Amino acid sequence: MPDTGAARAPLLDAAALAGPWAGGRGGSRTQTEPGSGRPIAGIGLAATEDVERAALAAVAAQESWARTTCAERALVLREAAAVLAAHSDEVADWVNRETGGVGAKGAGEVAAAIEELYAGAALAAEPCGELLPGSAPGQFGYARRVPVGVVGVITPWNAPLRLAARAVVPALALGNAVLLKPDEQTAIGGGLVLAAAFARAGLPAGLLAVLPGPAEVGEALVASEHTAVISFTGSTATGRRIGSIAGGLLKRAVLELGGNNAFVVLDDADLPAAVDAALRASLAHNGQICMAAGRHLVHQDLAEEYTAALVERLARLRCGDPRVAEVAIGPLINGRQADRVAGIVADSVAAGAELRLGGRPLDTGPGAGTLTGLYPPTVLTGVRPGMPAFDEEIFGPVIPVTSFADDEEAVRLARATAYGLSAAIHTADPVRGRAFADRLPTGMAHVNGSTIDDAPHVPMGGLGLSGNGHRSGGRWNVEAFTFTQWVTVLDRPRAPRKAG
Ligand code: NAP
Repeated sequence: MPDTGAARAPLLDAAALAGPWAGGRGGSRTQTEPGSGRPIAGIGLAATEDVERAALAAVAAQESWARTTCAERALVLREAAAVLAAHSDEVADWVNRETGGVGAKGAGEVAAAIEELYAGAALAAEPCGELLPGSAPGQFGYARRVPVGVVGVITPWNAPLRLAARAVVPALALGNAVLLKPDEQTAIGGGLVLAAAFARAGLPAGLLAVLPGPAEVGEALVASEHTAVISFTGSTATGRRIGSIAGGLLKRAVLELGGNNAFVVLDDADLPAAVDAALRASLAHNGQICMAAGRHLVHQDLAEEYTAALVERLARLRCGDPRVAEVAIGPLINGRQADRVAGIVADSVAAGAELRLGGRPLDTGPGAGTLTGLYPPTVLTGVRPGMPAFDEEIFGPVIPVTSFADDEEAVRLARATAYGLSAAIHTADPVRGRAFADRLPTGMAHVNGSTIDDAPHVPMGGLGLSGNGHRSGGRWNVEAFTFTQWVTVLDRPRAPRKAG
């Protein structure tokens, strides 16, 4: 009987936190809060040898899991959702503390993981094949989707629970086993909480192993002869490396990578609504989201009013320790990332951009003590192609504004990137917005919305430097985590043909 309840005991006790690798060859590490460096908890790390051990257990467990009914798999997924719901405050707190998230960031990830689990429960019962015309008299054929076996999942730190659930849940729902390597910095919220929820929900042992560890552990997972598919979410540089290793092994790699997304404001846009959406698109989790609006392309007649409104709204936000209630902008994941953002801003200003707000790393702020990694909301205008703030994925709370004269120039600017993840177009005319979206080579485009949008049933993913065309979500998960087998059946064996 699954033990969902347990609001009485925490989801993660000391043993669950230390994980199965405690005292092992991978050593251990202390999780710390970004910014303050306050210790959170110690965890055990996996070593590369552990990947093989976990893979063998996964292979052994997967065969019978694949033979369970869809109702049995759905039950486990629904129970895991109930466990997460019963422990939502605790899990949200782990996520916020490891990521430096402010306010509802952690709760939002828990809610997304729960939605993913319910969607996975429904996915398990979706049709899994189609009848095909026979190629001989008395023959019928069908194509059926078969679980691939063991799926390797590698995830980043920025939305650790949501992104792990997005791959782990559909892979399990479709009858696979999963080896999950979360980013070390967010191994609790991005891995251990899921493992604990599934264990309480009654998932058979061996089907989900969490392997917190360094890049070598991730590479071992990609190279293992037992992983059939790799689902990777992270930077373009790492995705390239993983894609090349997987390609050499003729293994499917589902790559969800970085973005440099255009937020376009046409001359007929509702300006206050566009400003609201722009703030959400650029500032959610401090801009550390792959779908964040990285380039704001604004019609020249609106650019000054748009910039002034952004500056006015952002100047009121308080930066500091995310544990302080009034703080809206917490630290970036680490000091290295804050230095990188500062470099992009400084180099863009040196190249001619105008700094309208922010622009300097903060060592301290109200209530901030000695936090590191704080970077204030920053607005740049006069940003053009060739400047780092236009060309690169920033991953920080920076809004680069570029003005344009007409729709043709706006399309050219929006397309002036090798990334192809998301875009948003603001206009009073939805037909004009759709025509604009049709001209963008991006995996996602939203008219009068935000560049950031996602749900378990939609095809999420990008092109170019943003990914290799695979999609997460809904029936697209079936493409990622199953293969197709063609089966034929003759009504009776045929007599062998006579020679001559
Ligand atoms: P990253 O450096 O590529 O790391 C992502 C994961 O890969 C981590 O678990 C990391 O482990 C692991 N890793 C690093 N090198 C590896 C290797 N050689 N082999 C196997 N695994 C390896 O990414 P990040 O900078 O943390 O994450 C931010 C990036 O992710 C941004 O570019 C963002 O746009 C992108 N992202 C994309 C999406 C999407 O859906 N398209 C969603 C979220 C984020 P360790 O760090 O523990 O070593």
